[in-house]
Amino acid sequence: SALQKPTRKYTYREVDESEVVSALEDIFVIRPQTLRNICKHFVDELTLGLKEDGHTLKMIPSYVSHRPTGKETGSYLALDLGGTNFRVCEVYLEGDSKVRLTQKKFTIPDYAKCGQSDVLFDFLADSVLTFITENHIPTESDIPLGFTFSFPVNQTAIDKGYLMVWTKGFDCKDTINKDVVALLNEALARKNVKVHVTALVNDTVGTLMSHAYNDPGTFVGVILGTGTNAAYVEKVSAIPKWKGGPVESGEMIINCEWGAFDNERVVLPFNKYDQKMDEESTNPGEQTFEKMISGMYLGEIVRQVIVELVQRRILFGGVSSPEIETPYKFETAYMSRIERDHTSDLLDTKMVLQELLNIPYPAPRDRRIVRRICELVATRAARLSAVGVAAVVTKMERVEDGCTVAIDGSVYEHYPHFGNRMKDALHELLGMFEENVNIVLGKDGSSVGAGVIAALA
Ligand code: BGC
Ligand code: MG
Repeated sequence: SALQKPTRKYTYREVDESEVVSALEDIFVIRPQTLRNICKHFVDELTLGLKEDGHTLKMIPSYVSHRPTGKETGSYLALDLGGTNFRVCEVYLEGDSKVRLTQKKFTIPDYAKCGQSDVLFDFLADSVLTFITENHIPTESDIPLGFTFSFPVNQTAIDKGYLMVWTKGFDCKDTINKDVVALLNEALARKNVKVHVTALVNDTVGTLMSHAYNDPGTFVGVILGTGTNAAYVEKVSAIPKWKGGPVESGEMIINCEWGAFDNERVVLPFNKYDQKMDEESTNPGEQTFEKMISGMYLGEIVRQVIVELVQRRILFGGVSSPEIETPYKFETAYMSRIERDHTSDLLDTKMVLQELLNIPYPAPRDRRIVRRICELVATRAARLSAVGVAAVVTKMERVEDGCTVAIDGSVYEHYPHFGNRMKDALHELLGMFEENVNIVLGKDGSSVGAGVIAALA
């Protein structure tokens, strides 16, 4: 007969949708009491990192000890490495808290991310050359450049810092323990580019400084993007490990490197899916907090859950695809899209699963489960981000006086509901004082901040 018989038997295990979902909730939901415990531990760790080196939170003095007045003027180059895009910019400070920005984005090829150091730094120098050529930037005098390098460095001066460890999938082995400013200056000299690096900046410090250029109440800068981290204004008297001599302002911006929070895994609810993702990453055992929060990993956690449910024949009738089996193929951007899907049959979710992940028959029930997985993973990320913010504001003793927290990064800017979910968690942590924490989007902060810091340096 013409009746086509399926060549494969689809054997759904008769597991109730609500049973599946509630098992996942048990694993991913963080209750208010747990949230408060994590926060308490976070504040202790912040204090410990300021005391001496060798603790989980590196708490790196940034050598930036003056916040801007908004009156700084001039034109600066900025180079921003550490997210999905690499950018070269010209930052023009107009002196009345206003900034103009010209920028060009480059994609860093994988071979440059994981090969020899020189290959990466030559690529950076070439991009600077392209930018100044295309924009006719005069190079008679060495142009000052602020280098936003968003990885943990042992900073020993405003223009000197030794790479401690790579994060976010970068892995050029021979860069470790090298001064990245020297590496960039050497690469620029090799290409005969007349530019000189005058400041080494973390993106969180840049975000703080760029927002402080027009709002002096800004005391914290946060990145929620490919990676995550925060910087804040600390009293030098509260940094026992500071041996750099007297500081006129009495303040120092501290780069927390909070992505490494709880690498010991004593308070975070790091589950079997996180574990699997971590084991298969370029830096197992490291960046525990970052791996539960940032854009590089959220999609991969969702993928780990889906793969397991398919293996157990709970999803897609047990039918997988090469795409869904490939690490990092389920992008965090797909999660955003799925969470934005407000059609009653989740038609856009179906499109994502069929067209981008090659799943032949995602039934409505499967789509709803996938959507719920995205919601659970992203909500956990937002709640943990809020823990970090609450801990920093508590450490600064600014819960009652309040402060502005500038946040930049693709997850905060583009992921639906992320900000509101953070706000809910902040309320659980700080009660009515949540209103004192003024969270704002600090767009382009990491690049503009490098210009502001170059102006102050
Ligand atoms: C890096 C930080 C950076 C953060 C956000 C982390 O992986 O270690 O230095 O600030 O990502 O880009
Ligand atoms: Mg960035």
